[in-house]
Amino acid sequence: MSKGEVEEKDYTADVAVIGAGGAGLPAAVAAAEKGASVVVVEKQKKHLGGNAVFALGIFAAQSNVQERLGIAADRDRCFRKGMDYAHWKNNPRVLRALVDKSADTIEWLEEKGLKIDLVAPLYPDQAPLVCHVSTTTDKLGATVMRLLADKAGQLGVRFIASAQAKRLIVDREGKVSGVAAETGHDEITVRARSVVIATGGFLGNRALLRQYLQSYDEGEFFYAGNKYDGDGLRMATEVGAATEGMAVLEMEGPTFPWSRYLSVMTRRPNTIWINTRGERFVDEAMAPIFTESANAIYRQPGKVSYAVFDESIKEMIFGAELSSIERHILGSAPWSAKADKDLQANVEKGRVKISSSLEEMARWIGAPPDTLKAEIEAYNNACVNARDPIFAKDRRYLVPLVSPPYYAIRCCISLLTTHGGIKVNHRMEVVDNDDNPICGLYAAGVDAGGTDFDTYNIHLTAHSFGFSVNSGRIAGENAAHTGLKGY
Ligand SMILES: Cc1cc2nc3c(=O)[nH]c(=O)nc-3n(C[C@H](O)[C@H](O)[C@H](O)COP(=O)(O)OP(=O)(O)OC[C@H]3O[C@@H](n4cnc5c(N)ncnc54)[C@H](O)[C@@H]3O)c2cc1C
Repeated sequence: MSKGEVEEKDYTADVAVIGAGGAGLPAAVAAAEKGASVVVVEKQKKHLGGNAVFALGIFAAQSNVQERLGIAADRDRCFRKGMDYAHWKNNPRVLRALVDKSADTIEWLEEKGLKIDLVAPLYPDQAPLVCHVSTTTDKLGATVMRLLADKAGQLGVRFIASAQAKRLIVDREGKVSGVAAETGHDEITVRARSVVIATGGFLGNRALLRQYLQSYDEGEFFYAGNKYDGDGLRMATEVGAATEGMAVLEMEGPTFPWSRYLSVMTRRPNTIWINTRGERFVDEAMAPIFTESANAIYRQPGKVSYAVFDESIKEMIFGAELSSIERHILGSAPWSAKADKDLQANVEKGRVKISSSLEEMARWIGAPPDTLKAEIEAYNNACVNARDPIFAKDRRYLVPLVSPPYYAIRCCISLLTTHGGIKVNHRMEVVDNDDNPICGLYAAGVDAGGTDFDTYNIHLTAHSFGFSVNSGRIAGENAAHTGLKGY
């Protein structure tokens, strides 16, 4: 941004983009590549990229990388997987748009300098493999954002930082024709024939969370990223947008946000997870499918879970081979000493308990001691019989807790972002309650609903960032068309 631009109050462009994150930056670059003049309004002062800077992986189907690595990830199969998971309550054309654009987007990002050399499984036997990562960086999302910001600069995209979009401007014919924003001391306007909304969801808006997410209020959550206020959703509905897919939280659980070593330990399949009633509540081996295990924790009192194991299970965890994603998180150096240190440190902070007495452990958890003891006895019997009669946990992971001391790690759910809200079609045009496009208005990224229904489908791994970049690109290309030629 040049100094002169800070002082301007009125801007004119073919396309205005609201938000410079995972969807906004691709939208701006895609529109500028089509020849449109673009102004981006971003509420942060310095940092571009929104929550996208945290992303480790990006979804794609039938990409050149998958082809190179001999990985079959048929588009139709991915599409059906997404639709079946949501029982066809999501938007098929929106999901199809993501799946069909995704391979081309990998090449588009590679042209800009991104290096992708791995398509990583999230869990054993995952198929198809779709999560594209780079072994040269653990900051794939941040790299993508930097490359796109550089490209936007080369293409002459103007950024107005510290500017919070407040409302859309609508002309006499009812077409969206710009956006009004506040910079703290001034109101600025950007006049444009088309506007792309990409403001990153509503995780910071408690009223909306309470309205759409059952028992949200009763949880103790860790917020893993930035929390946005739902400005995009509000602005769109003010001009008649319909909503779709409002009740989807992208979440991860169990997590122990204070130590990545302990967080990996709590997700090991040979731990058991106990709620505050002293009961198991899930097949713990499903931990890598972390949105679904988070769903199970979401149903527990207080939405907390304790990962419980004994000394010999701890040693088994330290000796086990790490998955490629875990190696990505922990690195390749030995980690057991660091984990042991973090266990001790968190005992002092009241987040971990180490005790040879199950009675004492139960009291720390807040559970009736008899219940916890009976639960562990039942689990140990299941291990002897090689059959978990309640949760049908894979027998390979049934290891009894018989070697004190016992460990308990208090875990919670991490919230990453909301999904959904503004209803769009496959062109990322915002539609009204009759599914008619609102002239000049587009939405992308997590502000746009449709890919998921009630649970973020982690089997299409990394389609959150994938949808952001792809929907941003689609919105930018179509917005450029409108911006240059009119509606
Ligand atoms: C810790 C973490 C890890 C993640 N890891 C992954 C991963 O590995 N793979 C994956 O697929 N997904 C991942 N995600 C999700 C991914 O980051 C999101 O899907 C993606 O960032 C969404 O892009 P977006 O543009 O919709 O929102 P964001 O990237 O969050 O961008 C929103 C932008 O809008 C701006 N903004 C908000 N309100 C206004 C306003 N009123 N005016 C102007 N600007 C505004 C914000 O400042 C921000 O810059 C992760 C998320 C988190 C939090």
